[in-house]
Amino acid sequence: MPLKFGGAEKCGICQKSVYAAERIEAGNIPFHKLCFKCRECKMSLNLNNYAQADSILYCKKHYQSEVVAKNTQTPVL
Ligand SMILES: [Zn+2]
Ligand SMILES: [Zn+2]
Repeated sequence: MPLKFGGAEKCGICQKSVYAAERIEAGNIPFHKLCFKCRECKMSLNLNNYAQADSILYCKKHYQSEVVAKNTQTPVL
């Protein structure tokens, strides 16, 4: 766990300060609720339907097409 020194954490998307009221955390990275959306289609996400690759967020559909498919040499049926 990173130490906090009273300063606000930085959003994993926009790098601006995140305060508790607007904070959502995924993979130990804080995000604004408004920033918590798919990078490809901008669909709003929540903790039940997001997928994450490093600090990049996707919906399940785009995680499949952008991350899984590109990391897989042979297509998986
Ligand atoms: Zn943000
Ligand atoms: Zn998407």
